[in-house]
Amino acid sequence: MPKPIHQFIPATAKNLVQEVMKRSGQNLTACYQCRRCAAGCPVAEETGYMTPDRLIRMIVTGDCQGVFNNKLVWQCVSCLTCGARCPNDIKTAKINDTLKQMTLEARVKPLTPKVAFFHDAFTKSATRWGRVNEPEFMSFYELKNFLNDTAEKNLKAFIKEVRQQVEFGAAMAKLRRLHFGFEMSQGRREIKQLLKKHQRMKKGQVETKENQWK
Ligand code: SF4
Ligand code: SF4
Repeated sequence: MPKPIHQFIPATAKNLVQEVMKRSGQNLTACYQCRRCAAGCPVAEETGYMTPDRLIRMIVTGDCQGVFNNKLVWQCVSCLTCGARCPNDIKTAKINDTLKQMTLEARVKPLTPKVAFFHDAFTKSATRWGRVNEPEFMSFYELKNFLNDTAEKNLKAFIKEVRQQVEFGAAMAKLRRLHFGFEMSQGRREIKQLLKKHQRMKKGQVETKENQWK
């Protein structure tokens, strides 16, 4: 079980809670810790019982260390059960998506690198082509895994990963659920321009935030 969370850090609390609320569109100040979300979260055991209510508590108390080193952010499967059970309509999946991005921007090493690599390869492929192409995005994902395992001198983990993916790919191909074709969406240029504009807008804020949270 995680340690009780009760320390309030005023120096970071205001900026952190405001930023997460602005980006995720969720009203964290409405949370009154009833824990209905916790009772329904299917990944609670995987995260060492770091449940949505605890994550929200960490954010509002300004615990940046806890927030950016948090398994729930990376293990959340976006089932939206927490949002459906919450009397205040707080969707923690959206908070987790926001925190994934903020963790990467703050250059904190994710607790589960594989999920971060998957997220990164997926969003980059979607940005490049307007949709995800499975062979391309999986190649980038596996390349990142390989580089990470090599840097950590953990060849066993990489061999295990490749074996699992080959088995999974064969099962998918058998069911005709694997698509090797390459597709692009219409209006790719517009999508890219929108994303670039969004990133430019964020860049100015990110540098300030990184300093604020240190
Ligand atoms: S169900 Fe909603 S109000 Fe209750 S603890 Fe979870 S997020 Fe907070
Ligand atoms: S969306 Fe994520 S945080 Fe919410 S219940 Fe599902 S796994 Fe848990």
